[in-house]
Amino acid sequence: MKLTRISHVFVEEIPASIDPGVVYVSIEYGTAVHSCCCGCGNEVVTPLTPVDWRLIYDGETISLDPSVGNWSLECRSHYWIRRGEVVWARAWSEEEIEENRADDRALKARFFRSKRGP
Ligand SMILES: [Zn+2]
Repeated sequence: MKLTRISHVFVEEIPASIDPGVVYVSIEYGTAVHSCCCGCGNEVVTPLTPVDWRLIYDGETISLDPSVGNWSLECRSHYWIRRGEVVWARAWSEEEIEENRADDRALKARFFRSKRGP
């Protein structure tokens, strides 16, 4: 069943077994993990880095930016987590996925170059 709401919990370490409908956030390890919102049971890891995901905590709910696209999973689900709500987006085509991967690689290459300096 597709979730429409998701809660969150701040943890030090991500537990071995996770409940659906909860985003486990570890500031310690700079990562967030949740069970795919489509209900397929796959674990989705969203690293929190300047070139991966940003976590926004407003004191009550969390948002993840950008969207979560589970292209490597069979369900291929695609959604936004916005203020504790799961906003479903359409699945992308192969071309769109490839384009996004290329953009992502370019972004990361630029980021790591800038970290090393000129
Ligand atoms: Zn899924």
